[in-house]
Amino acid sequence: MKKQPYLGSPVFTSAVLRNHHIAARKRFGQNFLIDAGVLEDTVEAAGLTEEDFVLEIGPGIGTLTQYLAYSAGRVCAVEIDRSLLPVLEDTLQGWNNVKVVNGDIMKMDLRRLSEEENGGRPMKAVANLPYYITTPVIMKLLTEGAPLESITVMVQKEVAERMKAAPGTRDYGALTLAVEYYASPEIVRIVPPSSFMPRPGVDSAVVHLKLRTAPPVSVRNESLLFGVIRASFNQRRKKLTNGITNFEGFSFSKQTAEEAVAAAGLSPDVRGETLTLQQFAAVADALSERM
Ligand code: SAM
Repeated sequence: MKKQPYLGSPVFTSAVLRNHHIAARKRFGQNFLIDAGVLEDTVEAAGLTEEDFVLEIGPGIGTLTQYLAYSAGRVCAVEIDRSLLPVLEDTLQGWNNVKVVNGDIMKMDLRRLSEEENGGRPMKAVANLPYYITTPVIMKLLTEGAPLESITVMVQKEVAERMKAAPGTRDYGALTLAVEYYASPEIVRIVPPSSFMPRPGVDSAVVHLKLRTAPPVSVRNESLLFGVIRASFNQRRKKLTNGITNFEGFSFSKQTAEEAVAAAGLSPDVRGETLTLQQFAAVADALSERM
């Protein structure tokens, strides 16, 4: 029988912080979960079983980690804040299926981690993400080719809405398109500030991204596709042809950009923010033919 999780209430979280003489550090985005209902919903959305290997980003004082360790086969938790290591040693006592790694997730080679810790088999990422790097972490998980089955994360509500935004809306952008290309997103639940200690200034949401086995569009050159998307949203109020011409990662002439946009069946004045993923792929393919 595995040990039951016991963290996830204001009383326990305060006691852990007090006993270890620490306080939540703003610069690492530390907002600790104190709501057992949210923790249970997160683990349920991740669909964990004894077969699963979980990558947790930012275990903090180990609250979500206890729930993950209880439900999954193994957990590898990457924490940047060295001062939390003795806390985690204390709060994760009794679960022998957790490995805590001290490091910055943004600097980690996740393919290597998966090879070393899980024989290269697909992992499930689960986290209450530090809000100062939410989007870069999600982009890293989606695009770096680490074997992942799903990503279940707490993010700002506004980021969750960006993941599911429609073309032409204010929230639509590079994150929306990367999520659509690599995964199918679901907003599991909205979470109020009162579920955290200390309380963040905004509502949050748990999102579940199931990674696709194949992208929904085929494109000749994936990095060119994401270049066009970046070029377009770098200057979202400008015409797509200008975005492509001005983007520092490209060296396409104005004429080539105009030809590619026309070949994709789009108006010469079109703005990238209105394009679907399929249309971005058509522009990228047309550019690729002209390289
Ligand atoms: N999982 C805990 C919970 O739910 O109560 C803590 C979540 S807190 C929002 C974010 C955690 O991520 C903190 O523990 C913070 O120190 C850690 N963190 C921040 N930046 C990080 C990074 N670059 N790499 C790894 N961990 C990071």
